[in-house]
Amino acid sequence: MGEAYKLLCHHCSYNQKIYVGVGFRYIRLPEIWEWFEDEAGKERIRDFMQDNSTRHSCFQGLYICEKCNYLLNATYLYMESNTDTYKNSYDCPRCSEKMPSMPVDEELDHGLALACPECGTEKLSVECFLHWD
Ligand SMILES: [Zn+2]
Ligand SMILES: [Zn+2]
Repeated sequence: MGEAYKLLCHHCSYNQKIYVGVGFRYIRLPEIWEWFEDEAGKERIRDFMQDNSTRHSCFQGLYICEKCNYLLNATYLYMESNTDTYKNSYDCPRCSEKMPSMPVDEELDHGLALACPECGTEKLSVECFLHWD
């Protein structure tokens, strides 16, 4: 089960809805393969699906650009077999800096201080508004 949050800045007009966590189509690799958008990643999923030693972790996460504070709500995928590993990665859509390899995994509505990506104000308000799956 995942959560959806509203992020809101009280100093500028920034507001965004984000979806984090695990949905029911994130559990099995063949289903992840169906919706996964990155073509190169899709190929890798297909490879790992052939290997029954594969373990994986997949969820919607929030990546924070360390350079410009851009918030990217995107899929994290890690796969590992006895012979191979794969982890997807992102570049910041705004400043092209490499995003951290892991999204934030803290509970977003429990005191995580997110800076506003637009005006830099210290703390966005974070409100959980629905559960999704
Ligand atoms: Zn950036
Ligand atoms: Zn702001």
